[in-house]
Amino acid sequence: MSRALIWFQHDLRLEDNPALQVALKRGQHPIPVYVHDPAETPIGAASAWWLHHSLDALRQRLRALGSDLFLLEGDSAVALQRAAQDTAAEALYWNRSYAPGMRERDQRLSRKFSQNGLHTESFNASLLRDPMQISKFDGSPYRVFTPFWKTLQKLGPARDPLAGCGRLPPPDVKPAAAQPLRSLRLLPACGWDSEFHQHWEPGETSAWRQLEAFLDNHLIDYAEERDLPALMGTSRLSPHLHFGEISAVQIWHRVNRWAQQDRSPGAVAAAEAFLREVAWREFAHHLLFHFPHTADSPLDSRYRAFPWRHDYANDLRAWQQGNTGIPIVDAGMRQLWASGWMHNRIRMLVASILSKNLLIPWQQGAAWFLDTLVDADLANNSFGWQWSAGCGADAAPFFRIFNPVTQAKRFDADGSYVRRWVPQLRKLPNKWIHQPWLAPAPELSNAGIYLDTNYPSPIVSLDSSRKRALAAWKRMKQQTRHGEEV
Ligand SMILES: Cc1cc2nc3c(=O)[nH]c(=O)nc-3n(C[C@H](O)[C@H](O)[C@H](O)COP(=O)(O)OP(=O)(O)OC[C@H]3O[C@@H](n4cnc5c(N)ncnc54)[C@H](O)[C@@H]3O)c2cc1C
Repeated sequence: MSRALIWFQHDLRLEDNPALQVALKRGQHPIPVYVHDPAETPIGAASAWWLHHSLDALRQRLRALGSDLFLLEGDSAVALQRAAQDTAAEALYWNRSYAPGMRERDQRLSRKFSQNGLHTESFNASLLRDPMQISKFDGSPYRVFTPFWKTLQKLGPARDPLAGCGRLPPPDVKPAAAQPLRSLRLLPACGWDSEFHQHWEPGETSAWRQLEAFLDNHLIDYAEERDLPALMGTSRLSPHLHFGEISAVQIWHRVNRWAQQDRSPGAVAAAEAFLREVAWREFAHHLLFHFPHTADSPLDSRYRAFPWRHDYANDLRAWQQGNTGIPIVDAGMRQLWASGWMHNRIRMLVASILSKNLLIPWQQGAAWFLDTLVDADLANNSFGWQWSAGCGADAAPFFRIFNPVTQAKRFDADGSYVRRWVPQLRKLPNKWIHQPWLAPAPELSNAGIYLDTNYPSPIVSLDSSRKRALAAWKRMKQQTRHGEEV
């Protein structure tokens, strides 16, 4: 029986895994490997925590089926070459990444390995459609979501989900450099992740549990509840999707089946509202694939001339630590620190405060998110930040600056979200919970709050910082030719 290396990357699952399936279909003996190569694919601290546990879960599943997962470290081309020699593998299969530079890397690997007689093949396992398969009539990539979504709905996923696998042949040889999981040093040294287990269980089995619980309890109300951060109204599938523990194709099919089976009125509309969000992920990956510079530069090139502040170190720190004095923002940043995740509505608010009211380059906020989110995803993150800062595809226009107090009163009307993540404020009456700086002194002291002692005053005035942001935006427009994109 010939052997094939299965190179796991962001596809840490056994079901709907084209690379694994092709080896089994061809009667080859699969040798599953994972290569930790942080120089090639940098990873933030919270994501590294997730990765550690996800690899552990995948390895346990493989072992239960009679196989194993071999963990390697270093330059992926070198590690794979050695693993192929050690195991006398005749083929190398993997599921593609569409991140910047990955297509070129894959082409290099294929060329190099085929010169050495190793057959290579890669597959799309992360997206509903390969980004090359969706384009406008003139063949150019989409930059606006709605027509992209209409095309995606019409086309649907490129394939049906693939089955899982039964018992696997036991690995009769292993790569000599295989290491124990702890040698990859993925867990933070300082114990910052101590609460993460209360919020998350990485791995394919728990991804499915999460999806099924969401379908049973929340999907029907998704459109109404998805913007309320105090509720569990969204699926919380983002880290599972990022690490490929479940695929967008599987979600698409399962959600459509749910909509057909569920008799309640509104099931079809609820399913569509949810799949539309999954399609935003597809759109973000489509954009990053076609415009790879947008990982850290604005899609709207006028914003290269945006007059950001330079003296922002203290404000950036206050924002990161959840000490801006604006409760809804601080609640979001503290939720992020404690759990590695933040609700989408609050991500938009904290991004708007950073890039507009504080005039700090959005890239600073994006970098903090990449380090602290368990679902840190270059495509979704760059897209979300550019959308919020007004410089991305289909972005919120710059002049629409969120007022975090108005937003908080609308989406956290009784203050439960703020009270959960900023417990100092929990005794404050609803009237003041989103703007403690306006509360009369007796109300503050009754609630045990002493501004600038146990909770800060706002680091910016929302009104004057809004005017400053609009003035900066006008300056940028004047500097760029006719205010047009160049
Ligand atoms: C500034 C900013 C930064 C962001 N950074 C990331 C990131 O690093 N990683 C990440 O996965 N998402 C990011 N998002 C998008 C979004 O906030 C999260 O995907 C969502 O909050 C995840 O929660 P959920 O799984 O419960 O979402 P649900 O509402 O249940 O949505 C289901 C899935 O659809 C996708 N999705 C939903 N909303 C979006 C969106 N606006 N853009 C792209 N995909 C979406 C996600 O994969 C999500 O898991 C960011 C948004 C903003 C505004």
